[in-house]
Amino acid sequence: MSGYLLAIDQGTTSSRAIIFDLKGKIVASSQQEFAQIFPEDGWVEHDPEVIWQTTLATCRDVFQQAQLHARDVISIGITNQRETTVVWDKQTGKPIYNAIVWQDRRTAEECQRLKQQPELTNLVANKTGLLLDPYFSASKIAWILDNVVGARARARAGELLFGTIDSFLLWRLTGGKQHATDATNASRTLLFNIHSHQWDSDLLALFNIPSNMLPEVRDCAADYGSTEASLLGAEVPIGGIAGDQQAALIGQACFTPGMAKSTYGTGCFMIMNTGEHALQSKNRLLTTIGYRLNGKTTYALEGSIFMAGATIQWIRDGLQMIANATESQSLAEQTGANNSVYMVPAFTGLGAPYWDPEARGAIFGLSRDTGIKEIVTAGLQSVCYQSRDLLAAMAQDGAKPTSIRVDGGMVVNNWLVQFLADTLGIDIERPQVTETTALGVAYLAGIQAGVFLDVEEVADLWQHEAQFKPRMSESDRERLYRGWLEAVKKVLCGDSV
Ligand code: ADP
Repeated sequence: MSGYLLAIDQGTTSSRAIIFDLKGKIVASSQQEFAQIFPEDGWVEHDPEVIWQTTLATCRDVFQQAQLHARDVISIGITNQRETTVVWDKQTGKPIYNAIVWQDRRTAEECQRLKQQPELTNLVANKTGLLLDPYFSASKIAWILDNVVGARARARAGELLFGTIDSFLLWRLTGGKQHATDATNASRTLLFNIHSHQWDSDLLALFNIPSNMLPEVRDCAADYGSTEASLLGAEVPIGGIAGDQQAALIGQACFTPGMAKSTYGTGCFMIMNTGEHALQSKNRLLTTIGYRLNGKTTYALEGSIFMAGATIQWIRDGLQMIANATESQSLAEQTGANNSVYMVPAFTGLGAPYWDPEARGAIFGLSRDTGIKEIVTAGLQSVCYQSRDLLAAMAQDGAKPTSIRVDGGMVVNNWLVQFLADTLGIDIERPQVTETTALGVAYLAGIQAGVFLDVEEVADLWQHEAQFKPRMSESDRERLYRGWLEAVKKVLCGDSV
């Protein structure tokens, strides 16, 4: 077969379009950043029209760059910032409010009120694998219905549609013909039962959301219709959808239980394939749908760290100790792993497995000979120690990864990745194609189009660029990690020790 695959990667800060060849190599890419809207403290919004326009513009631009026509594309995949919520008018296609972004905390009080009832926390965890938290879509939809005049009545009358960003883009790309989403995106709404694969009537009632607003949920590789010819110059089938972290799991070819990927960008997201079984975490990790293909679901455990690369940004911009992130590597090489300074980057609280929103950051172990290099090194090390916290939580839940595949902007730092291998005590692999999110949905689109027979064929295409094996002694590994746990204990202030 000849032709190309187009991945649309609609992220939190930018929209991107990447054309891949049928071996998964990048042919061309285009990216546009867009404005973040902060109407009030803790609120984060995007203009859905801007999301749409930047998506369309990058698709058109990438064709031009590659000197290709939409006809050359066999299938399109869409991956997206997860949980972000759009409600739009079914007739006009106009959103009735800005997109409420996953980071938005405006519904914290409402979620806190619901959490007072322990049986609700359990109900939500059992059905969705998630926590009662503003992060997920449900309370955001409810907020829009409660705060936009007339919205709830219009929703009941069937005049409004809800979608995460994938769903909104799909609706627009197909000229309003498709109102659908995939199982991974649905699994982040707090409304989807990940075991029965149905929108859940108890949860819909809890948030007072009419079911007629919801998209149809399909496999990650499925027939999602075709683009309107007027948009890109031809009708192109859309064959794959997955939320960004799940797309990266696929792009990293983590197709067997025990395989995990960890993305080190601004924050860090670690996801491990747990196979056919939805492991209910006892350590406040999230249980989620890794992917669903041919009606068969593969589940995953997920943990996230708020501050990964953002810690290095703070050291650069806030402390002004380094001019650029790259410098952190040579400073850490000078310091060495045996650093007695610990930085706990709890700038906005701590995520999994602590979930302490009140905790704040601190630096411990300062002595007269502490200098810039020790503090910078402690920043890098904090990312690895937090990864070990996640791994330990996964292991306690009965899911210990055999190796981890890494990606994201931080992993160009060899010192960091080696220290990660040493801290975790397992092999770390870095792939040749680091655009794993876009690659993941290109693969899905390719599977749907018959370019690839199955995930095994995709797994054969994955190649590592470098492998990092643990070199540190067991006693050093444990001693350093104990120091980290002591430091974390000192910053925790919630009930989450
Ligand atoms: P995102 O997709 O979340 O915007 P990226 O995957 O582009 O993030 O990664 C950018 C992050 O990686 C920044 O926070 C930056 O501080 C960090 N980073 C980039 N290069 C290095 C490096 N050599 N060492 C450590 N951190 C780095």
